[in-house]
Amino acid sequence: MSKAWLSLGANIGDPPAQLAEAVRRIAAHQDITVVSQSAVLTTKPWGKTDQPDFANMAIAIETRLQPLELLDIVLGIERDMGRVRDEVWGPRLIDIDIIAYDRLEVKSPRLTLPHPHAHERSFVLDPLRQIDESVATWITSR
Ligand code: ADP
Ligand code: MG
Repeated sequence: MSKAWLSLGANIGDPPAQLAEAVRRIAAHQDITVVSQSAVLTTKPWGKTDQPDFANMAIAIETRLQPLELLDIVLGIERDMGRVRDEVWGPRLIDIDIIAYDRLEVKSPRLTLPHPHAHERSFVLDPLRQIDESVATWITSR
């Protein structure tokens, strides 16, 4: 069994509801157990700043899925949730990133672990610290 930490974000539609729906779908997967959840934090947009505030959270999971299998699952959930609302709200209503998977370090075309921007994004690190101080420290001290 491996442990992984996911970052979830949304800033259009009903962001807290979309985070809750994404967590529900992740938890519904037969090979994933959600073991902890941070609070939902409201954060200012990062990078492109002329857009609505984000709702962000982090969750910890246990899974037998390999990292790329997990990536496909979370991207599939993004797609499934996006398709429903794409016409009305545009593309950015749920983002699910793998912050880390065990203490694995990976650089491949489809997946970088830990997530390449996690160490510099407080909207990733603050919720992560709530659920696992030690993995947050590992990411920031690499
Ligand atoms: P971002 O999350 O950076 O704003 P996207 O959600 O559009 O951008 O993701 C684009 C791609 O990033 C995904 O298709 C995926 O292959 C790649 N990617 C690389 N590393 C990771 C990771 N750790 N977690 C999630 N996606 C990742
Ligand atoms: Mg993403």
